[in-house]
Amino acid sequence: MECINHPGTAAAGTCQICGKGLCAQCVSRFSPPLCEACLLRHNRGVAVRLSIDLAITAAIIVGVGMVIYFQATTNRWGGFTVGIMLAAAYWGWQFLNRLPTPVFFLSGTGWIFYLLVKLMISVLAGVIIGPWEIFRRIKELHKIRSLEQAVRNGKA
Ligand SMILES: [Zn+2]
Ligand SMILES: [Zn+2]
Repeated sequence: MECINHPGTAAAGTCQICGKGLCAQCVSRFSPPLCEACLLRHNRGVAVRLSIDLAITAAIIVGVGMVIYFQATTNRWGGFTVGIMLAAAYWGWQFLNRLPTPVFFLSGTGWIFYLLVKLMISVLAGVIIGPWEIFRRIKELHKIRSLEQAVRNGKA
């Protein structure tokens, strides 16, 4: 097998996604070893998922805020506080989903109680975790964009 980027050079490994040959130089370019096309496609997919999370957060805050702003007669800006709380719940909920469900809550009314408690904890956890997760995603998006540019300019 030959390297996909350097015809005539023997492959030292393969792209982890498409299985095409990569020479010794190309195999150590990215970790895990990927060809350029697969790396860019994979990262674009990740970037879309990260952007969707950020867009949902903005949509919850702006959406809920606007609805209450136009409906409420007093405390019109309070809607944005509610929006931020719900956006926090969105992040906190995802965080709690990574933790195991307590088994003793898994039946009947216990389940409803569990969901209510989970929602409350989601808001509390989200206030702390949300901004951190958003910051991490923006940083990750920036990294993906810089890497894509570097690959296009032949610098990575
Ligand atoms: Zn590939
Ligand atoms: Zn090569």
